[in-house]
Amino acid sequence: MGADDVHECASTNTHGVSSMTWLVQPSLVNEPSSDPGLFIDFRFGRRALLFDLGDLTALSPRQLLRVSHAFVSHAHMDHFSGFDRLLRVCLHRTMPLHLAGPTAFGDRVDHKLKAYTMNLLDEHSCDFVITAAEFNGDRFDRVCEFRARDGFRQREVSPARLPPGTLLDEDEFRIVGVVLDHGTPCLAFAFEEKLRVNVWSEGLKLLRLPVGPWLSDAKRAVRRGAPDDSEIVIRHDQSIPLGVLKQHVLRTARGQKIAYVVDAAYNEKNIDRIVALARGADQLFIEAAFLDMDAEVAAQRRHLTARQAGAIAKRAGVSRFVPFHFSARYRDQEDRLRCEAEQAFCE
Ligand SMILES: [Zn+2]
Repeated sequence: MGADDVHECASTNTHGVSSMTWLVQPSLVNEPSSDPGLFIDFRFGRRALLFDLGDLTALSPRQLLRVSHAFVSHAHMDHFSGFDRLLRVCLHRTMPLHLAGPTAFGDRVDHKLKAYTMNLLDEHSCDFVITAAEFNGDRFDRVCEFRARDGFRQREVSPARLPPGTLLDEDEFRIVGVVLDHGTPCLAFAFEEKLRVNVWSEGLKLLRLPVGPWLSDAKRAVRRGAPDDSEIVIRHDQSIPLGVLKQHVLRTARGQKIAYVVDAAYNEKNIDRIVALARGADQLFIEAAFLDMDAEVAAQRRHLTARQAGAIAKRAGVSRFVPFHFSARYRDQEDRLRCEAEQAFCE
């Protein structure tokens, strides 16, 4: 993705958060006229997330093997046909693959898996596990599990209990989502880093403390709001109160927020939901399928125009936004889509 694809107004980019310290690096899987998809790579640790599973050939097997969770907006082919490649690459790995999508998604994954002959899988196979959760905008209605050793037979398991609107909740971040109307339910997602905790190395020197895994424990304690007198164990014979670390070593800042919005009709309910989801995001990736002069076609197909996308980004008060998922009819006029979106964002 080139720098040209990112739009920001100087007046709205005031957070001053250095991207160097961000937890993840998001990038579009393909150029904006090809299949949509966002690869969210963690800066530390071998881990990645995917929003949508369209054409994934641009991602290397190494990148795909890092994917722990993939969130699928809906099952139109341009958002789901890459499932096969992901499965092909991950089939013999031990880390499970967790998928989430809209209603009926569990059966769609089941049908994909049933399309293949799996007779070589048995109790001696690497037990690759896939889960497919169906999100209704509030919670999971249903979760299906498929295990390689069981020939990927579909099995229902109980859904994780998460706060309303949440698809994944971990120590460092959460994924939240809404259901949009695209003639069919279409999910939009946001990655929200929780409180960011950075280590100030001068503070470590001042207190003569070593760098070590104990710092992760200290960061976790800050994130979960542990009291200042909690003792953080540095090694078996040394510990220090969290409050001292907060004073000299640990610096906190607002976490990173990335929103991803694809196929959606331009109606009030959708706009309100997108604005609420993307509110204050550092980056919003949003479809800008048509030029506004083709707004009628956009409405028929329940897609956003570039102007509508820019106006929504402005209402949501995002710092930057990236218009994408351009209709193929504008293949040689992508700049017109970008300009129209940018104008609506900055006016
Ligand atoms: Zn689409």
